[in-house]
Amino acid sequence: MLKCLKCGRVYEEEKVLCECGGFLEVIYDYDEIEPKFSGKGLKRYINLLPIKKEIFSLGEGQTPLIKLRKYKNLYAKNDGLNPSGSFKDRGSYVGIHKALELGKKIISVASTGNMGASVACYAAAAGIRAKVYVPKGVSKAKLAQIIAYGAEIVETGRYMKDAVQVVLSRRKSEYPVMNALNPYYVEGFKTTAYELFEELENLDFVFVPTGSGGNAFALYKGFNELKIFSFLDDIPKIVIVQPEKCSAIVDSYEKGLDYVEEVEDCETIAGAIRIKAPLYGSEVLKILKKGNFAIKVSEEEIKRAMFELGREGIFAEPSAAVSLAGFKKAWEQGVTDSKDVSVVLITGNGLKDPTAFI
Ligand SMILES: [Zn+2]
Repeated sequence: MLKCLKCGRVYEEEKVLCECGGFLEVIYDYDEIEPKFSGKGLKRYINLLPIKKEIFSLGEGQTPLIKLRKYKNLYAKNDGLNPSGSFKDRGSYVGIHKALELGKKIISVASTGNMGASVACYAAAAGIRAKVYVPKGVSKAKLAQIIAYGAEIVETGRYMKDAVQVVLSRRKSEYPVMNALNPYYVEGFKTTAYELFEELENLDFVFVPTGSGGNAFALYKGFNELKIFSFLDDIPKIVIVQPEKCSAIVDSYEKGLDYVEEVEDCETIAGAIRIKAPLYGSEVLKILKKGNFAIKVSEEEIKRAMFELGREGIFAEPSAAVSLAGFKKAWEQGVTDSKDVSVVLITGNGLKDPTAFI
């Protein structure tokens, strides 16, 4: 079933948006689910995902969890090693499976690059035609990937929100497979929570690079489900990390708002999270109000974190290094210390944006 995040109305059938314009969320009857984890990849968690069965896999999920040398009790979850090089593959796996189940022939996605490349990748593997709407300024490496996967690229406006508007306007002929406009898509991101639960005992903090907020929304949901099934007593603290130059969610949280104010302008080296108007902003604010944390990091701090991860053997794109920059700041601020077990999510591969390093 689908439930509107804004007004709470429930729908039995497939839908893109609620009648009120709100985004929809997949809801489950947890009493009916037996959460058995078995098998490889994301198929391992299939009874907690809104798809009937695995039709194909490109080897997504079960990414390496690496203990960092420099810090005690700090691990990096390297989702840059997913098939298209970003964590988005977890969502695309579910979103494209759903498109196959529903018999969709053309799918669309609005993206700052990674989601477009990922959806194009999975659409190619499924034999579905994909149209990718991108704002100007997307890195050449990401565009190259989208072209290689055979998807059609449409440049639209300067920001993600411009591209989202076009996807919405074409939703009758092109099925959106992306954050928020497709409630099934973000469900795939929950699998990171399940993997971390299986890999680490006593996880205290998860640092999440945040743009639209879809990953943080789903991560919290995944941990909360583990609590519902009594696998976990407490949900680890979620730390939302944004670049100072593009921090709509953190700023609105600090102002005590219950909605996210769009930011005026937004230029940051962390291109994958250069989001003026986060689609999941209000939902992330709700998570923050449950005792979680929000941190901003400077461009300089992001750059230092990129190279620091490199020295640990992890090539992370700037947006992914935002999580380590956030961890360092949380340490300085006394939010976390060496007794706590922390994970920084490495959401995208450095090859996605190589010029940032040179
Ligand atoms: Zn509604």
